[in-house]
Amino acid sequence: MTSETPSMTLESLRTVPKVLLHDHLDGGLRPRTVLELAEAHGYSGLPSSEVDELGKWFREAADSGSLESYLETFAHTCGVMQTEDALVRVAAEAVEDLAADGVVYAEVRYAPELFVERGLSLEAVVEAVQAGFAEGERRAAKRGKFIRMGTLLCAMRQHARALEIAELAVRYRDGGVVGFDIAGPEAGFPPTRNLDAFEYLRTNNAHFTIHAGEAFGLASIWEAIQHCGAERLGHGVRIVDDIETGPDGTVRLGRLAAYVRDRRIPLEICPSSNVQTGAAASIAEHPIGLLARLHFRVTVNTDNRLMSGCSMSSEFAALAETFGYGWDDLQWFTINAMKSAFLDFDQRLDLINNVIKPGYAPFVSA
Ligand SMILES: [Zn+2]
Repeated sequence: MTSETPSMTLESLRTVPKVLLHDHLDGGLRPRTVLELAEAHGYSGLPSSEVDELGKWFREAADSGSLESYLETFAHTCGVMQTEDALVRVAAEAVEDLAADGVVYAEVRYAPELFVERGLSLEAVVEAVQAGFAEGERRAAKRGKFIRMGTLLCAMRQHARALEIAELAVRYRDGGVVGFDIAGPEAGFPPTRNLDAFEYLRTNNAHFTIHAGEAFGLASIWEAIQHCGAERLGHGVRIVDDIETGPDGTVRLGRLAAYVRDRRIPLEICPSSNVQTGAAASIAEHPIGLLARLHFRVTVNTDNRLMSGCSMSSEFAALAETFGYGWDDLQWFTINAMKSAFLDFDQRLDLINNVIKPGYAPFVSA
């Protein structure tokens, strides 16, 4: 970094364009919204009725190492997202928050089947979220912030509705749904359980990513790519288990790791979330350092902004501080993400050339 380069602060990080591919709608609510929706819809059982305390509770419960309290956080967010109004509000606010953080393109995902407890149809859920995203884009534009949204529909591994959700994703692909994902517990629920859904998506030339290689190892990544046909990996950090570093520092890639790197398969890496769930011991020990050094197609993501108390800017700040990344590196992560988006190629190119590169121009060395 030269002396003329603007210094890297949370403030300056917010001003550069960022691209987010892995963010859960039900993991990104504002604590105040959780409280207000709970009150409006008669949802009881929140652990606090005070905004700051509730926000802190979400982070600590997700941090506790207990699966039970981790899942409880999502029980509360999903609990208050069971009406069209609530979904519109949560979706619109997500866009506002991302835009305020300088995100210019975001793919936000959710599982429609989690929001039908009070009788909404899957279609009504999708339409409410799309209306919210459109409203959020308008509000951001009014404040002079450009942001473009894409939606990913998730199926839950432990339920048996993947094909139905895949069909829903294809039905709404001209309405803002750009892809599909499967989420939920990896252990005991290999992605191959949903082969019919992936086959349907491939037959329809639709895009999908799969949560794989977060807590669970290489087998899950291998199945996701070679059996299911995933274009990207949600997390995928366990690919490091197929990379050997010798005592002299030489690095040897196994066949799967080499395949992932050779094929430029994007890794949707979520550093803070991985530390919270124990997939990495700390940011310093997070495999992202090695994977970026080896030029895997690494992207940086937030996963659950509420539970991790993070934003794209704070993730960038943590990585820059830990690994000494400069503006060039952050631009590289951003272009990696834009290249890997499930958006039409010409639109990706347009965002890279007309939004991302000009946005970093004052910061990066020519
Ligand atoms: Zn995730």
